[in-house]
Amino acid sequence: MTRISRLRRLIVAGAAVLLGLTMPGSATAAVPSTTELAYYDVTSAATTTGGLAADLNRRGYDVLEGSMTNGVPILASASDAQRLRRGGLTVRYAGPLYQPVPASFVAAADTYYGGYHTAAGHETHNAAVVAAHPDLAVLRTIGSSWLKTQGSGGHSIQALCITKIASGDCALNTSGSKPKFTLMAQMHARELATGELAYKWIDYLVSNYGTTAAVTNLMNTTELWIIPIANPDGVDIVSSNSTSPVSQRKNAHTNGCSGTGKGVDLNRNSSYHWDVNQGTKCSETYPGAGAASEPETQGIQGFLSQIYRDTKPAADFSAATTATTGTFLTLHSYAELNIYPYGWTNTIAPNNTDLKTIATAMGKSNGYDVVHGDGGLNYFAPGATDDWIYGTLGVPGYTIEVGPSSSSCSGFFPKYTCMTSFWNLNLPAFMSLATAAARPYPTGS
Ligand SMILES: [Zn+2]
Repeated sequence: MTRISRLRRLIVAGAAVLLGLTMPGSATAAVPSTTELAYYDVTSAATTTGGLAADLNRRGYDVLEGSMTNGVPILASASDAQRLRRGGLTVRYAGPLYQPVPASFVAAADTYYGGYHTAAGHETHNAAVVAAHPDLAVLRTIGSSWLKTQGSGGHSIQALCITKIASGDCALNTSGSKPKFTLMAQMHARELATGELAYKWIDYLVSNYGTTAAVTNLMNTTELWIIPIANPDGVDIVSSNSTSPVSQRKNAHTNGCSGTGKGVDLNRNSSYHWDVNQGTKCSETYPGAGAASEPETQGIQGFLSQIYRDTKPAADFSAATTATTGTFLTLHSYAELNIYPYGWTNTIAPNNTDLKTIATAMGKSNGYDVVHGDGGLNYFAPGATDDWIYGTLGVPGYTIEVGPSSSSCSGFFPKYTCMTSFWNLNLPAFMSLATAAARPYPTGS
């Protein structure tokens, strides 16, 4: 379909949904295409918003983590929206999935959708940074994507270590003398903004060493690790359509499901509080056949276990010691949230005071809400990476949900020009979290 005809179809779909009309054309389409997806808010006269969110999630709808002010936000096809209405729910069209890329736009090599970098583009970038700055950057391979383990293409999972390299730095062990901050992005492949922020963070660090005092100090004292693309197979699926990215969240693990139902949710697949009940195979939150079943998870957990010391007893509510060093951040989108542990329960974590102090400092920078537990959504995210690194190793693990719930920069696929404001808001949060790596738990409570 051409962009113009697709756009017309989206507009028609939106208007029809607003008017509560049925759309015989789309309802009878043999294979609903991703171009029919849009954002909707769902409400029910009979259920609380939280209860409705949990119910829709259980039923396999793509429940989003945005504001619930207008109801439960979902990403759905027009026919799914109609099905929910027939079930007695109120479903309001909230906006299109895509922001059209101008016809005049000429994509640079290894980019798509107005400038976002492909997985290959990130790999080229990582190699170029190391080649240009051998005194400041080291590239490590920390695991394989699912397709690579199948001998069917795929990628290595790459991690860059950026610091003023001294003897013993950037080794895959805990004996280095510098504390570590790791920033990981695009574990959920369709969350486009996150990989771009990792890309900008890498460039910012290597280009400001020696000229910006805060960066020079940080790189003299801290190892800054970056996993720009945690789910490269998923990103390949997303970027396979350069003007209308595919809405793939999970990895590419074949599971008998079609379209974006394929795969495992890597942010439900960790071995800490892995929960079989998070979703059936084709749902967006399918946690996999078992804890850490996916090679991406194994690679990331293995890497983090290698570089961070374990300072926390295994029991969920035993505190990590004040001797803990290091911090960890995983970027997701969207909803403008700074999330701190735990995410599997509303019971506060044993290091809650210190965990919250760091998150509050991030919130002062980016203005996003500071939340833990279910964040008021009434459903949890067990098996996520941030809980795993805190619960298993004692390292404070955070999630930033980048980007607003409404406005032209909201959604999974904001215009590339939105990256400038996202970067300006979040750079200070990255800096404060990196600086906290030296001594994250000053009070020990
Ligand atoms: Zn996510």
